[in-house]
Amino acid sequence: MAINESKLNSKIWLSPPHMSGHEQEFITEAFKLNWIAPLGPNVNGFEKDIETYLKQNTYAAALSSGTAAIHLALILLGVKQEDEVICQTKTFVASVNPVVYLGATPILVDSEEETWNICPVLLEKTIKDRISKGKKPKAIITINLYGMPYNVKQIHAISNKYSIPVIEDSAEAFGSEVNGQKCGTFGDFSVLSFNGNKIITTSGGGALICKTEALKKKAIFLATQAKEDGITYTHKTTGYNYRMSNIIAGIGRGQIKVLDNYVALRRRNYNHYYKHLKKIKAIRFLEEPEGYTSNRWLTCILLDTKQTRDNLLQWLNKNNIEARPSWKPMHLQPLFKDAPAYLNQVSENIYNKGLCLPSGSSLTETDLNRITKLIISYFDKL
Ligand SMILES: *Cc1c(COP(=O)(O)O)cnc(C)c1O
Repeated sequence: MAINESKLNSKIWLSPPHMSGHEQEFITEAFKLNWIAPLGPNVNGFEKDIETYLKQNTYAAALSSGTAAIHLALILLGVKQEDEVICQTKTFVASVNPVVYLGATPILVDSEEETWNICPVLLEKTIKDRISKGKKPKAIITINLYGMPYNVKQIHAISNKYSIPVIEDSAEAFGSEVNGQKCGTFGDFSVLSFNGNKIITTSGGGALICKTEALKKKAIFLATQAKEDGITYTHKTTGYNYRMSNIIAGIGRGQIKVLDNYVALRRRNYNHYYKHLKKIKAIRFLEEPEGYTSNRWLTCILLDTKQTRDNLLQWLNKNNIEARPSWKPMHLQPLFKDAPAYLNQVSENIYNKGLCLPSGSSLTETDLNRITKLIISYFDKL
């Protein structure tokens, strides 16, 4: 009885790691060859795997984190102290922190309703306003939030019109697409993350996706302390220790084999929630615009009020199910209280009413039924 009960009520996590079984062979190989270093065959192999997966003549540099990838992208675009960088306000703090590392100022821009990502109308207004104040932004950081691609067509039209490059933060969207083209290939630079909660994980890690091999080489140079060629330890510029280790890359090689399978499983989660909860009037879903395919990294629903969201969150947590509010926008963070912000309430509304539901690829039908039944029972009680 006690055992059954604990099993029925066992904790369901938001987005736990999901090993495929292929990872160990690459790690074992690294041990056998004694390649225990921030370089080696798994690093090169994992980069090839990423490039093959993304297509579009991409060049991937495997790094220690997604945050490191954003930092290097900003450096490669020449962002310096006192510069301004536009960033979608609705994101996780890692998208914006590297702007601050460089002593530049983040300019925060709100979202559109259709994708929850940076609003094209507000973006253009922001650029015009910054230029009129005497400073042209050096880059635009866009996000594919929860796996949903941003408005690629309109954002890049604006980027081209004003000649401001885009850094595509695709940390949450490996496997997502727009009209058959993978996310992670749209930006002048794009960023992937393999942190523990992402759709595939190496426990921690990331990648910078470049448009040319020369830029990839520059990124790797900066990521390995900017050491000049030769054996004399000569340095002309400041570098970083940002390279991915050969052991970690082995996990990545095992994970990327099952990425498409995990996208299908996370989309299954979304479809299950949609099918069973769409009739509840207080719940809204983020549906895909035409031509868009989200990897559905996290299913985030919108409730009718903040109160409903808070109560439902509590109800799920009480029943041993991990659910979380949606990311707190950067303009509401004490850290960025002085950053200029161009707002329209969309991101704040999602923050107040959004609830992220368990979305792991290892969820079972039984888990999903337990979650949806609990949510339905919450509304039945009202
Ligand atoms: C996870 C995440 C990052 C950072 O990736 P790390 O690999 O954890 O440094 C950046 N941006 C977004 C939107 C993320 O969700």
